Amino acid sequence: MIRITHHRGKCIGCNYCMEVAPGRWEADLGDGKINLLESVQKRGIYIAIVGDDEYDANKEASKICPVNIIRVEKV
Ligand code: SF4
Repeated sequence: MIRITHHRGKCIGCNYCMEVAPGRWEADLGDGKINLLESVQKRGIYIAIVGDDEYDANKEASKICPVNIIRVEKV
């Protein structure tokens, strides 16, 4: 399994993460930021535990995020 962490408050809504990992991220038309799908929120940080098959795409998302607010780690 992998853990994806998203500091949503700092998101600038560029959608790069959604472009490389479209099954895990979705644009929020309400405030223009991105939502980490199937995540739980703790003190403003969104966390999703998902299968290893999503590692490569979301690791790529973490690398291209211009504000460096995505973390991906194996758990
Ligand atoms: S790449 Fe980073 S800043 Fe851009 S939408 Fe995704 S989380 Fe937000």
